[in-house]
Amino acid sequence: MNRQTIQSVTSLRRELHRYPELSHQEAGTAERLVEFFATHLPDRIIQGLGGHGLAVVFGGRNDGPTTLFRAELDALPIFETGERPYASTQQGRSHSCGHDGHMAILAGLGTELSQVRPRRGRVVLLFQPAEETGEGADRVLKSPGFKELRPDMAFALHNLPGYALHEIVLKKGTFTAASKGMTVRLNGETSHAAHPEDGTPPTEALAKLMVGLERLSESMGDFSLVTVVHVSMGERSFGISPGSATLMATLRTFDNGIMDRLTIYAERLVADIAKSYKLEASFSYSESFDAVENDAKAWEHVNESVKKLKLKTKHIRLPFRWSEDFGRFSAYCPTFLFGIGAGIKQPQLHESSYDFPDELIPTATGLFWEVIQRIHS
Ligand SMILES: [Zn+2]
Ligand SMILES: [Zn+2]
Repeated sequence: MNRQTIQSVTSLRRELHRYPELSHQEAGTAERLVEFFATHLPDRIIQGLGGHGLAVVFGGRNDGPTTLFRAELDALPIFETGERPYASTQQGRSHSCGHDGHMAILAGLGTELSQVRPRRGRVVLLFQPAEETGEGADRVLKSPGFKELRPDMAFALHNLPGYALHEIVLKKGTFTAASKGMTVRLNGETSHAAHPEDGTPPTEALAKLMVGLERLSESMGDFSLVTVVHVSMGERSFGISPGSATLMATLRTFDNGIMDRLTIYAERLVADIAKSYKLEASFSYSESFDAVENDAKAWEHVNESVKKLKLKTKHIRLPFRWSEDFGRFSAYCPTFLFGIGAGIKQPQLHESSYDFPDELIPTATGLFWEVIQRIHS
């Protein structure tokens, strides 16, 4: 990228940082991107993908594969701290996951593509909505506008504080965990607090479940993790023995099939405990993420590009325990997600003072550019 492009995408990044928008509400962000790309003459801009998502398409003269690069549009309901001239202007919202940086990287890539088109095939720059809630990728994939894009391979990156600045973090196979939120409701009967024996309080069952669910992973063999994140029971009244309780837990595994097994075990445990205390139990699920599967061929494209650019790499052996809704794309076509170090001493993602380092933009754009040269020339 030349100095002018770097300046232009850095100021775009800071502009996006000033106006963070939450999942499903990214209309202004999408509009800013449409404005940015209007001067770069892509073949097409497809809007309204799964909400405010948009795809910017640059094609070559000859037929060839379609490669998709994904960034996320959404910010978080976090109150930003720290001093910066481009601080969030939206109370209680900030780009503390660095998605502003991911968008700027694809804006840089689009600028390069507008000057030098791929020799063959098409490159799709996808700006996906609602990643943080795990809903966006699924909605984009199901949206009518996406049907005609039919990518043969999809790439994405995430900035990773805690790793050296510019370091590329790679892994074949599973890269990030599958996870989902499980909400359990226990229903019994209230009674006077002086006579709990007259009712069906969920107290003991809830206590057993809090411990039992977290211990499920001990019998699983493969990696799994259940974290009880919230419980509530009864009313805030000293006169009433409680008649109901709610428990929320996050389930995590490195494999979608093992997630199905863990879910069955969890439901069975809840049903057994509820039955022994004469309670009714029900379940619901939300924020469900698939594991991201990194394809071997796509890995090679990135690994070779990293070598050519002489970037520092870290090959990790274990997947990350967090989740990414890019996992939905893994079920659609070969995918590759990798990390780019955002600095060892940075605050972590989703912390109130986190800010995407601008220096990463040319590094990441350059790497994606190399991948395009490998696939499209
Ligand atoms: Zn995030
Ligand atoms: Zn993120």
